[in-house]
Amino acid sequence: MGNELIEIPVRTNRSNELVNVTGQVQKALTDSGVKEGILVAHVMHTTAAITINENADPDVVHDILLQLSKISPDCREFRHGEGNSDAHVKASLIGNSVTIPVSHSRLILGTWQGIYFCEFDGPRSRKLIVRVMGE
Ligand code: ZN
Repeated sequence: MGNELIEIPVRTNRSNELVNVTGQVQKALTDSGVKEGILVAHVMHTTAAITINENADPDVVHDILLQLSKISPDCREFRHGEGNSDAHVKASLIGNSVTIPVSHSRLILGTWQGIYFCEFDGPRSRKLIVRVMGE
């Protein structure tokens, strides 16, 4: 059980966007049949990331994106020819994987926590890789 890599397609619609993927990740866990263990969700992109944060007030997502744009604005001193270095910096600040404990076939998340796929150079067709370990 839970030995396969699971691919979750994520379609993003904006240049910068946080997409709540909690439901898809929980479904991947349910389909794996694992009841007790851990789940790793990993982003195989250099201008996207993944994080866990508040799922209740959508203004939190807005404010995270606003602050990231101030921490990593477009900058004329950048050298990278693709012109998306601001997105590469944001992706490294947020990180490309999360690990979540699993118990009784459920992700152990707080009431106010959701899993967010973070797009920083969209819109694009992306994918999230999930692996569940346990029994
Ligand atoms: Zn680039």
